[in-house]
Amino acid sequence: MASSETDDDPRSVKRVAVVGAGVSGLAAAYKLKSHGLDVTVFEAEGRAGGRLKSVSRNGLIWDEGANTMTESEVEVKGLIDALGLEEKQQFPLSQHKRYIVKNGAPVLVPTNPAALLKSKLLSAQSKIQVIFEPFMWKRSNPSDVCDENSEESVRSFFQRHFGKEVVDYLIDPFVGGTSAADPESLSMRHFFPELWNLEKRYGSVIAGALQSMLFAKRDKTGENKTVLRKNKPKRGSFSFQGGMQTLTDTLCNELGKENLKFNSKVLTLAYGHDKSSSSQNWSITCVSNQSTQGVDAVIMTAPLYNVKDIKITKRRTPFPLNFLPEISYVPISVMITTFKKENVKRPLEGFGVLVPSKERQNGLRTLGTLFSSMMFPDRAPSDLYLYTTFIGGTQNRELAQASTDELKKIVTSDLRKLLGAEGEPTFVNHFYWSKGFPLYGRNYGSVLEAIDKMEKDLPGFFFAGNYKGGLSVGKAIASGCQAADLVISYLNSASDNTVPDK
Ligand code: FAD
Repeated sequence: MASSETDDDPRSVKRVAVVGAGVSGLAAAYKLKSHGLDVTVFEAEGRAGGRLKSVSRNGLIWDEGANTMTESEVEVKGLIDALGLEEKQQFPLSQHKRYIVKNGAPVLVPTNPAALLKSKLLSAQSKIQVIFEPFMWKRSNPSDVCDENSEESVRSFFQRHFGKEVVDYLIDPFVGGTSAADPESLSMRHFFPELWNLEKRYGSVIAGALQSMLFAKRDKTGENKTVLRKNKPKRGSFSFQGGMQTLTDTLCNELGKENLKFNSKVLTLAYGHDKSSSSQNWSITCVSNQSTQGVDAVIMTAPLYNVKDIKITKRRTPFPLNFLPEISYVPISVMITTFKKENVKRPLEGFGVLVPSKERQNGLRTLGTLFSSMMFPDRAPSDLYLYTTFIGGTQNRELAQASTDELKKIVTSDLRKLLGAEGEPTFVNHFYWSKGFPLYGRNYGSVLEAIDKMEKDLPGFFFAGNYKGGLSVGKAIASGCQAADLVISYLNSASDNTVPDK
């Protein structure tokens, strides 16, 4: 006989709601589903992917959000293998050729010590400072090492170790290219936690990095070599055939339509709405479906500025979110342009070029450009170059909001100076992210404390996403998988009745 489930029925299959169908939410949902849980993903927009957004039009393929990712986190390789996506991975041609602008012209970024010595990117004095860093920053000098709770900026940290020029011509373009932020506004402890910890442990960043690499190798020598080779992450960045959204599209296919609710912005979350209920402690309401749905746990991946709009109650009493600090979000515009190959007089082979903010004095105004069709030739017809250029960031918030026409002029002017691109682009596409990246600023500790407080005060509520453990796609995936693990152990202990009510 068929039985209908009510809130009071002890259910064998637990239900979990995931808020947000970005890569972190989908990775979490996939892991929960693989574990046999009943999962529903609520997404405010009419599409999945969040900041992974690939477009295929007029024989061109481009990405308006993330363009590449890496396998630095173990969860990424696990996910790609589980989804059978290895065959669709696309590794850029000549990806180790990356350029930084110095005195108005692109200079190849050195990838080894010999190349660094020859490079024109740094002066002789800066090179000496880099080489002597391990001797200058011995552990015996603890008074110079920052204290644990210090909110030192990325600029100040690297300037102490390597000098100003290294910050201006390596660190500034790197952080601009990966987070649209500048070294002064970023917190070293939160943006580069690994390097921050290396200093605390070893004094020198270079010596610490070398020693950790050595230890990691030594630890692995005991392990089975075949297993190691098989599980070894591929080095470098990659995308997928069709662009980055192939990853989230595949996750959606695996989850199935019945587990995904689009145009379903979550409005309310209530914990302990029914005291007599032994399960489904949470109820969730969204825009598309005003009736509530009961679940046993919630993973929140919506950005914090969206979380603030959600009405949360705990045992019918409002749970105010006024303790959540403001996170500053960084605006950025993404411009796609194509040029006839014959009109680009100095094309560069490789990944792309980054523009340090100092180079504004040489009339350059973009943050950087990816050589998209150089990396992935199938992204444009063979007679065209397709470029992806980023504009805005913490130092240029107004420019990020400029009109398509103005941005087209800026991009055309920079590409003329850097690559000799002549005339007008044959195609232009503009996408504006008003809140592109969360800023891991110097108050970021208070953000993490607030997240921690919510997780502690609300049983079965877990955060994941790019404002938690790092900005990259890989880190967002890792945070989704880790939140799924926490939900699984929470539900296991809840069914053993060992979870204390908070
Ligand atoms: P999101 O992708 O933001 O997903 C959150 C989802 O929650 C969204 O779909 C949103 O609509 C939904 N949502 C919000 N509120 C609600 C609500 N109330 N109810 C339901 N749903 C809601 N990283 C890299 O590693 N490499 C790169 O090359 C790279 N380039 C980038 C370029 C740009 C222009 C940008 C903006 C980011 C880039 N990143 C890159 C960063 C990376 O793309 C993101 O950090 C990552 O995709 C974030 O994933 P997420 O799941 O945490 O959040």
